[in-house]
Amino acid sequence: MRILVITEHDGTTLRPASLSCLGFAQQAARPSSGEVAWLVLGQGIADVAAAAAQYAPVIAIDAAGLEHELAESYARAIAEVVKSGRFDLVAAASSTFAKDIFPRAAALHGGAMASDVVRHEWADGRLLFDCPRFAGAVTATIALHGSPQFVTVRASAYPAAVPLSQAATVEPMELPPATFARRARYEGLRSKQTARPDVAEARVVVSGGRAFKSAEDFERYVGGLADVLGAATGSSRALVDAGIAPNELQVGQTGKIVAPDLYLALGISGAVQHLAGMKNSKKIAAVNSDPDAPIFEVADFGFVGDVYAVTPELIKRLEQNGAGATG
Ligand SMILES: Cc1cc2nc3c(=O)[nH]c(=O)nc-3n(C[C@H](O)[C@H](O)[C@H](O)COP(=O)(O)OP(=O)(O)OC[C@H]3O[C@@H](n4cnc5c(N)ncnc54)[C@H](O)[C@@H]3O)c2cc1C
Repeated sequence: MRILVITEHDGTTLRPASLSCLGFAQQAARPSSGEVAWLVLGQGIADVAAAAAQYAPVIAIDAAGLEHELAESYARAIAEVVKSGRFDLVAAASSTFAKDIFPRAAALHGGAMASDVVRHEWADGRLLFDCPRFAGAVTATIALHGSPQFVTVRASAYPAAVPLSQAATVEPMELPPATFARRARYEGLRSKQTARPDVAEARVVVSGGRAFKSAEDFERYVGGLADVLGAATGSSRALVDAGIAPNELQVGQTGKIVAPDLYLALGISGAVQHLAGMKNSKKIAAVNSDPDAPIFEVADFGFVGDVYAVTPELIKRLEQNGAGATG
């Protein structure tokens, strides 16, 4: 089996989730002594392509039409590479990037796609993919027919690939400008600058729920504790819906799936849709004023109390003990 892994990057470095996806691809290819290659897309991507080549051979498409992550352009570029017939399976980490781009790329090739793969196995000469459904309440096992097949892979389910002893090759590829977006044009980006790590990639996540009554409180308590720990901030959907926390912090079924070393849930009840996004965290700690809150059923450490009293005390004690950045 020949597997193409689409990289996600910020222009200079690879996202850790892509390395986990490469880890999946290497595992999946091994039984058939298959091959794995990266596809790096963008403009001015020499550094990222070189970084990716530390792990596997790279196909690099450096084009003005790929300067911005327009789904139409990226999907067409992926489809063009796959058209060569060199790959049986195309994989990317499950992320908002892939959710936007992959179904389009798969549709350009007939649409054999599985999303959010958490496990795979070879059976009777074909790959089967386990994909959680209904907020993780059930797991579907899916076989895809035809070639090429497309999958998105949950990064927390696979260990990151390790670097090669010697860098692999970078193969530049050119596509005619007409390949790229025709019906969408990039107009601009509004993004909040933050020094905190990304919630989907941080080793420690401090998450706040409806207990917090305002954006100022959220920043002061959840953000304050996150900063002492060098952690990312996360949120339940209740706070996102209330406009208290930004959308990109939402953890859960319709938010980000996270699996940090430590997930700290402050004033979050533990609804099944929230648990779907964080229950695979290695350790879970919860603070809630209700001793019967469902979050305590999944928590390794629980504290019954008021977040407005407990959080400042936690911050104070961690500062006294000189807690370092762990994010
Ligand atoms: C299709 C669908 C998708 C969804 N997707 C998501 C998702 O991705 N992510 C998500 O989070 N939710 C999601 N939800 C919503 C989910 O069902 C819950 O409504 C939501 O998670 C509740 O958020 P919460 O725990 O912050 O609020 P609540 O359920 O209201 O819980 C607040 C908790 O705070 C405690 N509390 C209150 N005051 C204090 C205090 N001062 N100190 C300590 N504790 C206090 C309470 O005891 C309570 O346990 C989804 C729902 C649907 C239907």
